[in-house]
Amino acid sequence: MSSNARDLPDAAGFLHLRNLEKGDPVSPPLVQASMYHLPGDGQAPFTYGRGENPTWEVTEAALTHLEGADCVLFPSGMAAIAAALFTGARSGARVLFPSDGYYATRVLAEGHLARFGIEVVERPTQAFEDGGFDGFDVVFIETPSNPGLDLIDIASVTSAVRAAGGLTIVDNTTMTSFGQRPLALGADVVVASDTKAPGGHSDLLMGHVASRDPAFLAGVRDWRKFAGAIPGPMEAWLLHRGLETLDVRFDRMCSSAEVIAARLSDHPRVEAVRYPGLPGDPSHDLARTQMLRFGFLIGLSLTDESAAEAFINRCPLLQPATSFGGVHSSAERRARWGDAVPGGAIRLSVGCEPVEPLWAALKQSLDALPS
Ligand SMILES: *Cc1c(COP(=O)(O)O)cnc(C)c1O
Repeated sequence: MSSNARDLPDAAGFLHLRNLEKGDPVSPPLVQASMYHLPGDGQAPFTYGRGENPTWEVTEAALTHLEGADCVLFPSGMAAIAAALFTGARSGARVLFPSDGYYATRVLAEGHLARFGIEVVERPTQAFEDGGFDGFDVVFIETPSNPGLDLIDIASVTSAVRAAGGLTIVDNTTMTSFGQRPLALGADVVVASDTKAPGGHSDLLMGHVASRDPAFLAGVRDWRKFAGAIPGPMEAWLLHRGLETLDVRFDRMCSSAEVIAARLSDHPRVEAVRYPGLPGDPSHDLARTQMLRFGFLIGLSLTDESAAEAFINRCPLLQPATSFGGVHSSAERRARWGDAVPGGAIRLSVGCEPVEPLWAALKQSLDALPS
């Protein structure tokens, strides 16, 4: 692992992780198994499919390399988040969430954690540090917020929470380990949806929990085995394939997003742009210190709902879809899900298309809007 202050992932070493014997397949074996050959005392590395699987292990080794911390694989981002929360919180605990974070995490907390006597508190990202962190057992951080793209200062919050005796969990889905290193900034636990950029091809759901605390991770692994939220070997294998190109895809997506965000903010049909990489963005100074890249998500506002729908649906290089991080650029109006944003607010996920044709298509669709 790199000793760089920010703990960069070793993307080259990652591609040569497996120790192959002569004649072994270069791609990892996909092992579809519920039963393992198990005569005698039952002691073996693989005993039953809910507990162990060789394909999970290959993918977990890859994630571990990229995170610089041990990882446990889950069949979705939400399964990973649930495992981390149910491991980290107990009856009587107070848990803090960003009120403008990923909605399913809040639904899980309000609808399920709260039923077990856990007090769920929410604060907006922009005022997340107001009031401090005394009395919180778990503080859940998501930065940039989704879809607002406001930032939380990870180093500042994690050190305050640790001083107050709490645990921090960071949802790093939007940035991946190539764009932001929460564990190096002091977080106890990282959770992520690998459905997004890590899978990258819009064909699988997956997630993981990463931590340098072996006891916490053992609890998470135990939760997976007994709650039964286990990944399918095929999905684990597909994620491994996605991870092999995450570095190049993420690099292209972030570089293109920087170009496109700047051009969008100069376009007369665009009312506002949020992108942490723009020098005028309220998040820019913090982004420069805590993020390795500025990400591939852009928030833009058009005049109203009909302008936003026309822009998205008439652009030949935009997939109208929820979710993000795929090779295809995609966009949606978040107000359609009830997010507290104006009707013309769009979340744009910049994909892997070459940037000039992509910009030409976006511009053409914007130019066609009534002024
Ligand atoms: C998508 C997403 C999740 C949930 O991931 P799934 O794989 O859909 O379960 C969690 N957090 C964030 C920030 C996400 O974008």
